[in-house]
Amino acid sequence: MSTSNVQPDPSMIGGISKAPFVFLPNPGRLFRDSASRYERLAEGERLAPYLRFLAGIARAQSNLSDMPNDIPLIPADVLERASISSMPAIDRSQFHDRAGMREVVRRFLPMLDDLVKPASAQQALALVKSAGDDDLDWMVANVMADHLPPDSLAHHLYVAAGVQAYMAVVASRLVASKLVPVSMGVCPSCGGRPIGSIVIGFQGAEGARYAVCGCCLTRWNEVRVKCLSCGSTKGVGYRSVESNGEDATVKAEVCDQCASWTKILYQNKNPSLDMMADDVASLGLDLLMASTEYRRAGYNPFLIGY
Ligand SMILES: [Zn+2]
Ligand SMILES: [Zn+2]
Repeated sequence: MSTSNVQPDPSMIGGISKAPFVFLPNPGRLFRDSASRYERLAEGERLAPYLRFLAGIARAQSNLSDMPNDIPLIPADVLERASISSMPAIDRSQFHDRAGMREVVRRFLPMLDDLVKPASAQQALALVKSAGDDDLDWMVANVMADHLPPDSLAHHLYVAAGVQAYMAVVASRLVASKLVPVSMGVCPSCGGRPIGSIVIGFQGAEGARYAVCGCCLTRWNEVRVKCLSCGSTKGVGYRSVESNGEDATVKAEVCDQCASWTKILYQNKNPSLDMMADDVASLGLDLLMASTEYRRAGYNPFLIGY
């Protein structure tokens, strides 16, 4: 492990002034890219079966995103009101009992039938597919609240994948210029928590850092060397699995103020990095951090079982 609590992150130097505040998701492409990345990462990897399974999930999410009928637009007046009051554009609490969302999840689940998976995962899928409206609504509500019950995690993961694709489509139709910073670690589109953040290397904003929402996959700009959980800029350091932390492209950004950490991916050093896929594939960093006093603040439904 390398520790650099006292030194600033070297690649932050040369700050960014023109970085757009948000990049709304382009769900079809985004999930396709994640699927390819999962597959690539699965080569010669201990987690290969799970990564291939998630590649299939991401492909299904991409297919769902390409057929977004039933997925609503957020009305302009709602967007305007949220913008004025510094609230997320999508009020997630309003989505809990929507029949439309349930139907989209129902359309999504059969797309997962043919994925290679353990028998227990197949049984969980069959159970979710046969769930009644009340049970499915309960699972959707849990997912929307970022609360996945440990005793039915496998069932919730399928629902979470459908909801993520749904929310990415809703977010993709927002108006970026109407989105405003809400508060630290809160997605301006949907109020969700970040998976982690990426340092980008494109679009004239090289070196800018974006948090990535675990619910709708909106990316929003946050300054570098700042805790995504509490907003502190003091006591922020970096750790990595590699012995030479300078070369690491996936690091833990740790905060001494609130004793939490989030993953930061350096896409400016490796353009192939993908927030979702590389988060799962860099599980080694999570295991390393689990032995420290810091708790993971990043939210990724596909990593919760580990
Ligand atoms: Zn979001
Ligand atoms: Zn903090």
